[in-house]
Amino acid sequence: MANLPIVQFEEKIMEAVEQNPVVVVIGETGSGKSTQLSQMLHKRRYTKSGAVAVTQPRRVAAVSVSRRVAQELGVRLGDEVGYAIRFEDRTSERTFIKYLTDGVLLRESLANPELNQYSVIILDEAHERSLNTDILLGLMKRLIKRRVSNLKVLITSATLDGEKVSNFFSNCPVLTVPGKLYPVEILYSNERPKSYIESCLKTALDIHAREPEGDILIFMTGQDDIEKLVSKLEDKIRSLEEGSCMDAIILPLHGSLPPEMQVRVFSPPPPNCRRIIVSTNIAETSLTVDGVVYVIDSGYVKQRQYNPSTGMYSLDVVPISKVQANQRAGRAGRTRPGKCYRLYPSTVYTDEFLDVTIPEIQRSSLAGSVLYLKSLDLQDIDILKFDFLDPPSPESLEDALKQLYLIDAIDENGLITSIGRTMAELPLEPSLSRTLTEANEYGCLSQALTVAAMLSAETTLLPGRSKNTEKKRKQNHLDLPDGSGWGDHIQLLQIFECWHQTDYDIDWLKDNGLQVRGMMFVKDVRKQLCQIMQKIAKGPLDVQTSRRRRESQQDCYNLRKALCVGYANQLAERMVYHNGYRTLGFKPQVVQVHPSTVLKPDNEGKLPDYVLYHELIATSRPYLRTVCSID
Ligand code: ADP
Repeated sequence: MANLPIVQFEEKIMEAVEQNPVVVVIGETGSGKSTQLSQMLHKRRYTKSGAVAVTQPRRVAAVSVSRRVAQELGVRLGDEVGYAIRFEDRTSERTFIKYLTDGVLLRESLANPELNQYSVIILDEAHERSLNTDILLGLMKRLIKRRVSNLKVLITSATLDGEKVSNFFSNCPVLTVPGKLYPVEILYSNERPKSYIESCLKTALDIHAREPEGDILIFMTGQDDIEKLVSKLEDKIRSLEEGSCMDAIILPLHGSLPPEMQVRVFSPPPPNCRRIIVSTNIAETSLTVDGVVYVIDSGYVKQRQYNPSTGMYSLDVVPISKVQANQRAGRAGRTRPGKCYRLYPSTVYTDEFLDVTIPEIQRSSLAGSVLYLKSLDLQDIDILKFDFLDPPSPESLEDALKQLYLIDAIDENGLITSIGRTMAELPLEPSLSRTLTEANEYGCLSQALTVAAMLSAETTLLPGRSKNTEKKRKQNHLDLPDGSGWGDHIQLLQIFECWHQTDYDIDWLKDNGLQVRGMMFVKDVRKQLCQIMQKIAKGPLDVQTSRRRRESQQDCYNLRKALCVGYANQLAERMVYHNGYRTLGFKPQVVQVHPSTVLKPDNEGKLPDYVLYHELIATSRPYLRTVCSID
């Protein structure tokens, strides 16, 4: 990798690391920060006294970059070079370069607050300003004071305001690796298109027809839009190809892409073939795709935001920031001069886009993070005064404290309780970790573990409603469980139990249109949660999956009791005259149950009087998603 820009700066960077506890490295995306710094440190024997940890805000980046580094060093992934992401650890005793998500490093620091297993910690992609990286920045500031002589911290970023971070770390040195970027011509649309998908489609086809060779990278919003655009592109390209001289392959790129699909994005295309990559913002800075000459920027990103005053999440398609627009454009100039097609007028860029992206800490629920910080026992600090690079609003900190108090994780003085400590050890959101601790009391831990595992798998698990699946199911006389009138949590439990009855038969999953990879993951997550619970309980627990065909009434009753405790913040009451609900929070909201629920109205057309919900999310309107009757 001698030609990567960072290699020319190896001496300078290593000298700075030698002389300073903290160094900030700023370099263009693709300059080699993620893949090379860890190897340089290994070469200089920093791995003698501990491993090098490299954090990534995204799971897919941790996997992909570690794979690359293992390849470059000629070792097996999971051996000397490995990765650890939530519920998946591919490292060994011999691992000296470890890529891990920022959340996993936070969790490791619970078990070992000094993080002595590492000689160097690289916080990579700090510009993404993920919630966990922001918390790590604060923790590193404390840690370097305690491990003065044997810890080095590197903070790397593509765009970060280096000065700000340097000030945060007592004016530590900032090294900039100049990018080898070719000029990129920016072309604006005259107006915002009515449909950005159609507009991306048209622009991509125009480029494919008119422009010389070079790959096209399209920045779409989220997975749904990506899939729509990919299928439209495939149709059009297929119909064009007969007469054209150049082929094209269409590749989706997003965070939940299966590994075999990710590999395709990094392999070179066949000769005379143009790749059209349709990506989320993951290709802005996290993953570098080589060979891109044309960028199409929709100008939007899909973003999850939390409103602490209502407890509501929204998943909105929002305009990107100027920093993001510039990153996107930059992707076109890595190989040779390129072009960036912005599907919005220049006035939108100058007048409407924010300068920088709002950090995640200022748009997330902080309950999980505050519980984490409480469990660290940082005696000398008050959470409300934790040293954040950009502090969250007092309102969202108060919201987090209220939520934790309601589920018994902290007491009236704000001190962490023993329940709270157990909860913090579980890699789950507070509502689920509280459900597990309570389920243990009610003798339904096995069932609660299944529900928690089903809800934690980030893939869509519920059967596709495709005609084919329905037909197959009818032919096979299969009948998927329906939650027995209790709702979605119970259905999730029943689906897993049914699969268990078949001895985890893969064909059963396929026949029922369930995702094989997703369900295998659930099985693994369940096992891991089980092990953690056993460790906490310091002894065996009753976690056997039931061998009976259906859960007994009593099991479900107990499980719903445990869920009520875990979800004490997330309850809703049906309104008298129709099937709308009102949330029972500090600020009640009028909401509907999401149509995807298995809950059905009774003979009188009524839904249950009371439900608990996993998520309150506003899409076109406010919805309760994944609900369970508690009547
Ligand atoms: P940075 O962190 O500065 O953005 P990286 O170290 O991620 O840069 O990337 C450096 C180079 O390594 C890029 O050309 C990129 O395409 C390549 N690369 C990174 N990961 C992989 C991978 N999994 N497979 C193939 N190439 C990769």
